[in-house]
Amino acid sequence: MNNLVIQELESERQIYSAEIISIGTELLLGQIVNTNARDLACELSELGISNYYQAVVGDNPERMEAVIRQGLERSDLVIATGGLGPTEDDITMQICAKIAGTELVFNAEAAKWIRDRITRHHYVLTSNNWKQAMLPRETKILYNAAGTAPGALFQLDYAGKRRYLAVLPGPPLEMNTMFKRELKPWLCTMTRRHLQHLYIRTIGLGESRLTSMISDIIHDQGTVTIAPYAEDGEVVLRLSVMASAEQTIEELNEIFQPVLVQIKARLGEYIYSVENKTLPQIIVEQLSAQNARVCFAESCTAGLLSAELASIPGASRVFSGSMIVYANELKQSLLGVPAEILQYDGAVSEQCAIAMAEGIRSLLQTDYAVSVTGIAGPGGGTDSKPVGTVWIGLSEHSGTFARHFILRGERNRIRRIATLNALDLLRRQISAE
Ligand code: ATP
Ligand code: MG
Repeated sequence: MNNLVIQELESERQIYSAEIISIGTELLLGQIVNTNARDLACELSELGISNYYQAVVGDNPERMEAVIRQGLERSDLVIATGGLGPTEDDITMQICAKIAGTELVFNAEAAKWIRDRITRHHYVLTSNNWKQAMLPRETKILYNAAGTAPGALFQLDYAGKRRYLAVLPGPPLEMNTMFKRELKPWLCTMTRRHLQHLYIRTIGLGESRLTSMISDIIHDQGTVTIAPYAEDGEVVLRLSVMASAEQTIEELNEIFQPVLVQIKARLGEYIYSVENKTLPQIIVEQLSAQNARVCFAESCTAGLLSAELASIPGASRVFSGSMIVYANELKQSLLGVPAEILQYDGAVSEQCAIAMAEGIRSLLQTDYAVSVTGIAGPGGGTDSKPVGTVWIGLSEHSGTFARHFILRGERNRIRRIATLNALDLLRRQISAE
């Protein structure tokens, strides 16, 4: 065979484009958020497969068929999720079999698998469970390690073109498990390139300010593309390169390195992670490395800060505990905040944040203590202290200080962003040690 023929054969095995079709009337009604489409889109982008379209369609046979057919006309792969359950309105498998020109037949192997799973988990087998054993003839069946509904992968010739149609269940745990175990390994063999990403996570700068600080780097981007995007309270820079299957991680890191060095020089202290780690993860690592402990006094965040830290495995090594001191009387009686501060400066003030941090640190005897006090709204704001005013205090052996923030948004956003900033203040202080 000459090279050209080999190339042609190889290109036949390629999937370049995919689209995601999420099925379910609840999605159309806005009753649930389409996390499946988001999760699949992330996976496809990492695999270097272009995702040009996403669609949502209800459990209506004509419309479902039309939207899947439209997908097959323009994309190499269509991934449909949802509607594989045992009830009457779950018709996805039937419609996909019809499109592929095949029919549903009783699949004894799948039936045995469903029965075993139901027995193992002590569920009650209902007569309609057998519907999930009705599967397309001559199609690759995808096993469901997290539920009962099997999925399927069809290969079809659609208007003279080779196309693939994957059908996955709706419940996110089942969808993600099936994708990772059954579909992804196959997809990796169908694409000879993938996108390698590096995430630079920053906090403390708005998206436009950050972008303007590195606008020349963004403007001059070459093989490494740079995409900033804002998450609640933080800005992430995603660096990406299109990598071939042969390139090693080390080679790719070398490609990222010069851009990373340039960006670090500009954004320095605002960067808290280049490994896609979260702030609480980093704090647990930092404190563990110093063998130090922290505690919190929370007013407006009322436990959010503690919950964030406690969500990280190993938090018990570094987190002593916290107090939720919502009422002024408790700030005074439990933490020893002087009555004069509460009366003259108010509970949302630099002095109060400092007294809270010192109070909790001396009570719990930790190396670091953080306090949060603020006005989450919607009521309670004044001209001098508008809604969103937050003071975050930090106390440690060398002293105590507090920072002032004015956060925007509704009540719970203010509480979340206050939590994030409290974590960031702690991170900065620990790394300055
Ligand atoms: P079941 O056996 O539970 O009926 P199914 O494969 O038929 O599973 P659906 O009935 O479409 O799937 O959805 C079941 C549940 O899964 C929904 O009620 C919803 O909670 C969740 N779900 C479905 N689709 C999505 C989606 N795109 N994003 C997030 N959650 C989803
Ligand atoms: Mg269903």
